[in-house]
Amino acid sequence: MRKTYKFQIDPTPRQAKVLDRWLYLCRRLYNAMLEQRIIAWRQHRKHISQYDQMRELSELKAELPEYMEVGAQVLQDVAKRLNRSFQRFFKLGTGFPKFQGRNRYDSFTYTQAGWKFKDGRLALSKCGPIKVRWSRVIEGDIKTVTIKRRAGHWFVCFSCDDVPTPVYPAAERKVGIDLGLEALATTSDGERLENAQYLKGKLKRLRRLQRHLARQKKGSNRRIKTVHQLQRLHAKIANQRADAHHKASTKLVREYAEIHMERIDPQFMLANRRTARAAADVGWSQFKTFLQSKAAAAGRKIVEKSARDTSRECSGCGQLVPKKPRDRWHTCPHCGTSLHRDHNAAIVILNRAS
Ligand SMILES: [Zn+2]
Repeated sequence: MRKTYKFQIDPTPRQAKVLDRWLYLCRRLYNAMLEQRIIAWRQHRKHISQYDQMRELSELKAELPEYMEVGAQVLQDVAKRLNRSFQRFFKLGTGFPKFQGRNRYDSFTYTQAGWKFKDGRLALSKCGPIKVRWSRVIEGDIKTVTIKRRAGHWFVCFSCDDVPTPVYPAAERKVGIDLGLEALATTSDGERLENAQYLKGKLKRLRRLQRHLARQKKGSNRRIKTVHQLQRLHAKIANQRADAHHKASTKLVREYAEIHMERIDPQFMLANRRTARAAADVGWSQFKTFLQSKAAAAGRKIVEKSARDTSRECSGCGQLVPKKPRDRWHTCPHCGTSLHRDHNAAIVILNRAS
């Protein structure tokens, strides 16, 4: 199993200056490599590969000695990154790779060399040992080490391979889950897995900061401060949401052998702006990704089914019982089944043929 561990780091002001400079150099290199590819293609219909660009790095160092300071693997990784964004463009049809502005390019990556642990610190060559706020134990083999700048803070991400997967007790039971807005998910056993509750207050604060930002002069110190506050708040919201999703998905994978859930149709979500917004807030797709990767690692099964009419169909007799969006309770006039609508929907999902 592959896993990434992220920690905040506390470089000294001198070290932070070095890291900032390296980011600047990597960004400049990225933009130069992008330009090189574009020109080669436009003028000569020639494709330049990441390896071509890596081979030219020693030439670059001879011409621009400031690049001697940055680790060789870090510079190679810049070429790999650019190549990945071209691959995304060709294979997935995402946007053409962009020139990177100062605020967008915010990380650089080591592989095996250029870093080591020293007395509990992360020692980067030509920068020195940096204090790390360790909050958990790293397991597996460290494949890459990425240094990130975000909202005026610095972080390190260790991406590890062969992380031992947690062993869960044997499970035989199946469960259906209904993804919702009130609760993140409701199970066919009637359990409600909570969403990030704190989110509402945070979203309010988010809107307030966005209003501030709109009024502030471009380039002013106050505006920069607000931008940082916004970035920090976004990061906090994302962290808390991920935390709730991790907890809920681990719980389901631990307890059940088969998890039946609805197929998420992005077309449908986009068709209804309110639903789409709400879904974005809840982050169903992230939750589903967590569930899928954990289930795969633990040998559990995810079964996807159509969610058509799950809010109306009666789990007791199969008849359709019309409801308004605000009706939270399912009461069937045909068979007398009576339970929360999300609970009902979860049972329908579980019993439905794929
Ligand atoms: Zn019924």
